[in-house]
Amino acid sequence: MRTGRAAAYVAVALLLAGCTGGDGQPPAATAASSQPAPRPSPTEPSADPSREPPGATETPTTPARFRPGAAIVTVRHLAGAVGPRLATSAAYDRAAGWVERRFTGYGYDVSRQGIRVPAGDSWGVPVDAGSSANVIATPSNLDPTRPWRLVGAHLDTVAVAPGAEDNASGVAVLLELARLAAEHGTAIPTVFVAFGAEEPVGAGEALHHFGSRLHAARLPSAQRDALAAMVSLDRVGVGAVVPVCTGGISPLRVRDGLIELAGGLGIATSACTDNTTSDHWSYEQREVTVARIGSTPYASYHSAADVPAVVTPDQLDRVGRLMWAWLQP
Ligand SMILES: [Zn+2]
Repeated sequence: MRTGRAAAYVAVALLLAGCTGGDGQPPAATAASSQPAPRPSPTEPSADPSREPPGATETPTTPARFRPGAAIVTVRHLAGAVGPRLATSAAYDRAAGWVERRFTGYGYDVSRQGIRVPAGDSWGVPVDAGSSANVIATPSNLDPTRPWRLVGAHLDTVAVAPGAEDNASGVAVLLELARLAAEHGTAIPTVFVAFGAEEPVGAGEALHHFGSRLHAARLPSAQRDALAAMVSLDRVGVGAVVPVCTGGISPLRVRDGLIELAGGLGIATSACTDNTTSDHWSYEQREVTVARIGSTPYASYHSAADVPAVVTPDQLDRVGRLMWAWLQP
């Protein structure tokens, strides 16, 4: 345990005594708790289903409800129009720009964090060294010394896969949650990240999860201590049961809070504590309380057959409704 961590836990515990939120955080009703107000977004791409009709005002016009149809449009764009998005490729850069414009359109402060990726082997395909990027959407009310949450989904794919399920599905849910958070606020300030270079270029920890490892390592220690929960959305669009896991280090507070919420929504879940194969693991190893949603096995994993038809709107809707129930004010 890092020096000072225990004291931080005590301080947070005192602040949160008596609260019952999904990760022990209180729903705050102050103005400071809401995400940035939405604003007109002239840079949003035409594929964005949330684009408002001409004449719309800045007042939210959509109900605070996850839209699986909007999520499917994102899956089709990333896995259909863009296609394979190796972290160091031009296609990845285009996808990152598209996500960046979506976040910006919702009103976030958006930044890119560059990532160096070594040469290696992307699921059987030799690949050169190169650069990738995390795309980070920060709400204007984030105080890095106060409790905040991080929700992430990796945007890259292995070399040959269009990656509809792995992981356009996660990015699709991420973007719809970012929209809802911007329009309707959240219980706790929430940062959304599309991670670069999650997919491995070889065996072992050092050749995997480059984007999230960098992001976790670069967080100032006080901000990392204030990070109340990190959730990775990775492969969330197949099957009818929602896997909710940790890697076995994290306290189970976030995982079990999500499972309890799912029960109330009539959403079936499965639980585990041995999942280390997504971006939550980068934070879990740094003592952040995490959960990973997704990982149901499917036939076209890491192949050219991971196309949009693999993903179902119903499963995106289950994950989206669960996550929005967790995030909402
Ligand atoms: Zn993945």
